[in-house]
Amino acid sequence: MLRKNRLFTPGPTPILPAAQTAMASYAMHHRTADFRALFSRVLADMKDFIGTKSDVLVLASSGTGVMEGSVSNLTSFGDKVLVLTAGKFGERWRDLGKAFGCAVEVVSAPYGETFSLEEVRHKLTPDVRAVFVQATESSTGARHDVKGIADLTRKTEALLVVDAITGLGTTQLDVDGWGVDVIIGGSQKALMIPPGLAYCAISERAWKRMESAKSPRYYFDFRRERKAAAKGESAYTPATSLFAALGAALDFVRQMGDGDLVAGRDALIANAELAAEMTRAGAQALGLKLFAPSCPAAALTAIQSPTGIDSGAIVKQFRESFGAVVANGQGEMKGQLFRIAHLGYYDYLDTIGILAALEHVLASVTGKPVTYGTAVRAAQEAYAGARYQAAATGTRAM
Ligand SMILES: *Cc1c(COP(=O)(O)O)cnc(C)c1O
Repeated sequence: MLRKNRLFTPGPTPILPAAQTAMASYAMHHRTADFRALFSRVLADMKDFIGTKSDVLVLASSGTGVMEGSVSNLTSFGDKVLVLTAGKFGERWRDLGKAFGCAVEVVSAPYGETFSLEEVRHKLTPDVRAVFVQATESSTGARHDVKGIADLTRKTEALLVVDAITGLGTTQLDVDGWGVDVIIGGSQKALMIPPGLAYCAISERAWKRMESAKSPRYYFDFRRERKAAAKGESAYTPATSLFAALGAALDFVRQMGDGDLVAGRDALIANAELAAEMTRAGAQALGLKLFAPSCPAAALTAIQSPTGIDSGAIVKQFRESFGAVVANGQGEMKGQLFRIAHLGYYDYLDTIGILAALEHVLASVTGKPVTYGTAVRAAQEAYAGARYQAAATGTRAM
């Protein structure tokens, strides 16, 4: 059959058509009143999207740029920092800390799991200056307990920096209420626009730390960006067309909430949660094992490859038969698992479609018969259950 190219990767994700149109027609100079109005409106909306009253920055870079910026703006050479890691993105925090000469302590958990809060408590000595963690570890599909960690850090001098690049828009995060000091997101994830923007919200506690932190920084000097943002500008040339796309994406999220951006964000989260639930049910009904069964994220589902089968064959089959791009494992996990994303612009038909495709892919790579409809049926039941529950509790229908 005809194949449409569809991304099911946890970044980049499918692009919202309205965002694409907004980008294509945008040609505003950035030092003009029109652009300042767009810039200020987007920054205000981003506070609602993130769920914070703190100042938000949106910078031209991939997510890693703002991860690096949060290390360089908040630490000094030799600072003791605690990195909580259970995957490739956690390891990025460790490497960034080392790159800036921090004394990096690590709490780690095996891939596919999350760390014990007891161990975090134990390692969170009074000399720890900052704690770095992911909300959702995109390499394993695991969700970490940000609230549990924040409950520990809030009582200490340590700042809590959360890479929520796939967590925002897929996970309920009470940023201010829990006491998260820096929370980071990226444009190519739940926000449904292309790669190129990274954003963060920064607490007063963290702004204060920047006054004494001595690590070198230039492009990612958050204080300079904050000053410029107060005037509706960024310090350097902003990615103007991506701002136009972001404005359109935030309008779309607002429409999802019938005019209320926060409600729309919550609906986007519920959408990812349900797509993830349907996918877990479908994969397990086929006898496949989840990679992070004890703490699955809604951003994506990582599924183990059947014994003796390289997940690369599954990824290839999805692409060749259906034009569907799913992600392989990263690093040491390559060949062991495949990942299906749910963050952003995915709907019921996308979710049912990828599971129907999975039935064929599995039959093809294993050479064993699959009872067609097994995954789809389980997903249908998960969907019907969620609709029934929404009706019973009077919440928005999915
Ligand atoms: C995508 C992603 C990043 C950022 O990656 P970039 O390629 O720099 O945008 C960081 N952390 C997590 C958890 C991610 O999913």
